[in-house]
Amino acid sequence: MYTLNYVKAKSVKEAAQFLASHPEAKVLAGGMTLLPTLKQRLAKPTHLVDIGGLPELRKIELKAGRLVVGAGATHCEVSRSPVVKKAIPALAMLASVIGDPQVRNQGTIGGSVANNDPAADYPAAVLGLDATVVTTQREIAADKFFQGLFSTALKDGELVVRVEFPLPKKAAYSKFHHPASGYAMAGVFIAQTAGGLRVAVTGAGPGVFRWKEAEAALAKSLKPAALEGLKLDSSGFNNDIHADREYRANLVRVMAKRALAKLSGKK
Ligand SMILES: Cc1cc2nc3c(=O)[nH]c(=O)nc-3n(C[C@H](O)[C@H](O)[C@H](O)COP(=O)(O)OP(=O)(O)OC[C@H]3O[C@@H](n4cnc5c(N)ncnc54)[C@H](O)[C@@H]3O)c2cc1C
Repeated sequence: MYTLNYVKAKSVKEAAQFLASHPEAKVLAGGMTLLPTLKQRLAKPTHLVDIGGLPELRKIELKAGRLVVGAGATHCEVSRSPVVKKAIPALAMLASVIGDPQVRNQGTIGGSVANNDPAADYPAAVLGLDATVVTTQREIAADKFFQGLFSTALKDGELVVRVEFPLPKKAAYSKFHHPASGYAMAGVFIAQTAGGLRVAVTGAGPGVFRWKEAEAALAKSLKPAALEGLKLDSSGFNNDIHADREYRANLVRVMAKRALAKLSGKK
């Protein structure tokens, strides 16, 4: 038995206003994470404010040289979008390897970045591509948005409206997925951006992070050999029944090499 109330928002503005006056309410997008959380009684909001299906959140377009993806775009929509495939093929590919078909048909990019699961795929692309998360209140650079385990810069009641991706010269993603859930045991996103080469790692630690040593090495040479012997501090990496720290550190190196091979068109 749930004792919460369901509210279907007619617009982002209406959802934001409702959340501002109901601090114990939670926004519902695809429900892929929130509904299991409710079932396990790990969250007990007073209201669920459903933003699923709002047309204003579903747009995917190129605007002023950036790829703009509405927060309500599902993983399936992103993976199949001709606009995404042309602008940033690695992002379409990343969306296509999230979870399973049910998850891809329901889960949204906004829900994924807001949730910031340490093994989620999108955070690696958002950080790797130096994207900007646009909310109902402000614009937040990826470097400031992700703040560790299930933690982001979002304030209570603040909604992700869209993610804006600058177009990279080249980008690639490689992921070693958990065989049961599909989540990343380790995923590495490499992008040649206007601001330089960026390497973002998901799945290995308590949150997505940039592997700065790899960025510095690859800025000099894009050959896989550049990654040999590089420092990778795994002391804070996840250490569980699925993989220990050392195994995850090795996976990061392997995924980085595979992403690099894709980047140079060898795979
Ligand atoms: C079996 C399974 C396998 C999965 N495998 C993967 C995987 O391989 N890779 C991966 O990356 N993910 C995976 N996921 C997660 C999935 O991809 C969803 O993206 C994720 O669960 C959240 O998206 P959602 O739209 O369902 O959000 P919800 O579940 O509706 O919401 C999640 C959280 O985000 C908040 N929220 C939602 N939208 C917004 C918004 N616009 N602004 C602010 N806050 C918001 C909600 O209040 C809630 O706290 C998996 C999930 C399941 C159930």
